[in-house]
Amino acid sequence: MKKVLSGIQTSGRLTLGNYIGAIKNFVELQETHESYYMLADLHAITVQQEPAALRSYIEEVALLYVASGLDPDRSTIFLQSSVPSHAEMGWLLTTIAYLGELERMTQFKDKSFGKESVGAGLFTYPALQAADILLYNPDLVPIGEDQKQHVELTRDIGHRFNTRYGELFTLPEPLIQKTGARIMSLDDASKKMSKSSPTPASYILMLDPPEVIRKKVSRAVTDSGREVKYDPATKPEISNLMTIYTHCSNLTFAEIEAKYEGQGYGNFKKDLAEVIVATLLPIQQRYEELRSSGSIYDILRKGAKEAEAVARPVLLEAKKRMGFINL
Ligand code: ATP
Ligand code: MG
Repeated sequence: MKKVLSGIQTSGRLTLGNYIGAIKNFVELQETHESYYMLADLHAITVQQEPAALRSYIEEVALLYVASGLDPDRSTIFLQSSVPSHAEMGWLLTTIAYLGELERMTQFKDKSFGKESVGAGLFTYPALQAADILLYNPDLVPIGEDQKQHVELTRDIGHRFNTRYGELFTLPEPLIQKTGARIMSLDDASKKMSKSSPTPASYILMLDPPEVIRKKVSRAVTDSGREVKYDPATKPEISNLMTIYTHCSNLTFAEIEAKYEGQGYGNFKKDLAEVIVATLLPIQQRYEELRSSGSIYDILRKGAKEAEAVARPVLLEAKKRMGFINL
């Protein structure tokens, strides 16, 4: 059985972009792969977090993983901070990563742009991310498009380690779906939808109530034309909304185009809101049930044990190869 590993930062409340670009695929992959799904809470603090907010984000991501269909009996669901091998391996790989490589990461450039002070962790975190991945020797890492560069860096770091100290790490392939790997903001189709955006109109949250979803969709930016047509180059806003539509329904782009031919954007947007609501509402209901059951911490404790059992021997072997003495 092939292995997959992926994760989401607990840096905010999950968006529809996180669902379509990540979680939905995690749920499918667990059927056919040995699966590890992490909550990247150590990564979340590369941007300053208010402690109470961080705690609530961690809980929300964990509940939404399970409410979306991740099954703790099939997948290992765990908090990064609860598996100490990650931080340890992260340090080892930070010493193997090159400054120049980290400087080329576009995410660092984007997230540090215009900031007066930037934490050093924001700069070095791709090395910790390499550790998160390499510790499990996965074959595949399902991600959105924005994470491609980080998985490539992971391969470079893993390859460098293997060359210096002997083959230890599998070099994983990124798994990026053809559409939906980059859902754009509702208010600006040149920007990725992100949970850490300060503008609520830019995203739909997985836990937004139906009336909020309807309002946000009705206000989503579109061009001044009338044609519902998939053409990202000339119609980026409508194409983004169509991408969301196709992932929340069983309709292809061609079927959506045919359905709204000659109708303008009004009906399309109204129906789009309803397919999003229909996708998220069952997840929201399971979220509430799961939250009141209080079982999520048992799931995370079980996941931490399973993950550490896989990660720890790999860490110890990496240390041994590098010349450390494991007492
Ligand atoms: P942040 O703003 O804190 O970076 P984020 O919304 O970008 O949050 P991440 O935790 O960085 O979310 O990424 C989690 C996963 O979701 C990654 O696989 C990432 O590629 C994917 N992802 C994030 N945003 C989108 C999006 N807009 N469309 C598709 N996939 C996305
Ligand atoms: Mg991100």
